[in-house]
Amino acid sequence: MVSSNSRIIILGGGAWGLSTALYLMEAGYSDVTILERAEAIPSPYSAAYDLNKIIRAEYEDEFYSKLALEAIEGWKTPLFGPYYHQTGYVVATTGKAPEKAVTHLEKALASIEKDPAFAPGIKRLDGSSDFKDYTWQYTGPLSGFKGYFNRLAGYAHSSDAMKGIWDHILARGVKSILGERAGKVVKLEYSNGKATSVTTADGRTHNADLIISALGAAGAAVLPQIGKSSVARSWSVAHVQLTEDECNLLRGIPTTNIRDLGFFFEPDPRTKLFKLCPLGIGYTNTNQHGISLPPSEQFRGSQDFIPKGDEQKLRRLLRETFPWMADRPFVDKKLCWFSDTADSNYCIDFVPGSNNSVIVLSGDSGHGFKMMPIFGKWVTDLIVKGRQSEARWKWRNPSENASQWGDSVSWRVGQGAELSELVGLDARVASPKL
Ligand SMILES: Cc1cc2nc3c(=O)[nH]c(=O)nc-3n(C[C@H](O)[C@H](O)[C@H](O)COP(=O)(O)OP(=O)(O)OC[C@H]3O[C@@H](n4cnc5c(N)ncnc54)[C@H](O)[C@@H]3O)c2cc1C
Repeated sequence: MVSSNSRIIILGGGAWGLSTALYLMEAGYSDVTILERAEAIPSPYSAAYDLNKIIRAEYEDEFYSKLALEAIEGWKTPLFGPYYHQTGYVVATTGKAPEKAVTHLEKALASIEKDPAFAPGIKRLDGSSDFKDYTWQYTGPLSGFKGYFNRLAGYAHSSDAMKGIWDHILARGVKSILGERAGKVVKLEYSNGKATSVTTADGRTHNADLIISALGAAGAAVLPQIGKSSVARSWSVAHVQLTEDECNLLRGIPTTNIRDLGFFFEPDPRTKLFKLCPLGIGYTNTNQHGISLPPSEQFRGSQDFIPKGDEQKLRRLLRETFPWMADRPFVDKKLCWFSDTADSNYCIDFVPGSNNSVIVLSGDSGHGFKMMPIFGKWVTDLIVKGRQSEARWKWRNPSENASQWGDSVSWRVGQGAELSELVGLDARVASPKL
């Protein structure tokens, strides 16, 4: 039984850990500590350590559409509002898109098209002149583009949002231990079937009544039992360095997602970086135990790399939309790691066999940041109820998942790969020992 003065430790101060701390604090839990391996928030190891993330509510599963719509309302509150930019959202496929990408677009549109909240702000677009009506800055051919504009969407500055919430919760009593030794979690200790403490890299033991693991892609390093159902996967990110005039030229453009190529955002006014991400299945880093984890820091620190195929996709995206940028160098290239599940559902549940002493928050599946304003509420509800009643978010045993991997999830278009296939077998890619 968790009471308001129970000792609660959250592992990881990323998007979900911070939201959880926020809601626990607001619900009156007075002894909440975040353990985080980074020296400061935002953590460079977080999947949301970034300029921006798409905030949109269209999903093939209406369940998530409704939640995302609620989250968008959360993005408009004084706490989250400074980080939200409702620039609108253009979604399209090119004339060469595979059938799966076209079907995905249609299904996602259907999830919001009839909703009274969205309907007035949605416009179907067909052909380049329709798209240029909405975004005059597109100067490329937009070959065969078909899709829609959705006014009720945009992006959030994800690093700034995490920093903002961090400052907010620390000022209100949430405690924290940061750093590669003091804050890095290495294991959980159990006694009589219950987790009782967390050990950090400096050898210290932190006693807890409830442990909430929010370690993102690194979850299986501490809870190996999630490793077969929540898999570390990465997508590429790249940027173009713009001049001030170029940045001003693109001010206010809608977040643009071309389903068979990739997506981009309004440039960041502070750094003048224009961020792009290719779409595809992404890359895993599977170790000898069959578990994918993010590669070692050494590799991550030394990388300024994205796979060639992704770079080609992004150049095509630019040729179609902003050809003047298409041959510019890409800077700050990186692989960004998230936690993926077979059916793209989150996992928000007690760890079986832990006597309700450990909760795992994992499997964001690359669509979890937008939920930051409401995510923590689901965790406080779980604590109060003592069991997960939402079937989508229940703990799943690896065998229940095995048959679902593959192409059942519609955004998984194309081929995935192992990181080692991309960079050549290299000791630096080895994931941490379990
Ligand atoms: C390229 C890319 C694009 C994305 N785009 C979108 C988007 O447009 N919209 C959207 O909604 N979502 C998007 N996402 C997903 C979003 O970033 C994640 O859903 C979200 O960050 C998940 O939050 P989290 O707290 O579970 O994990 P994270 O934010 O990754 O946080 C995990 C935290 O755990 C810490 N940690 C790790 N190991 C340890 C340890 N041993 N000890 C202590 N601390 C540790 C890390 O430092 C980090 O702070 C994208 C992800 C990627 C990779």
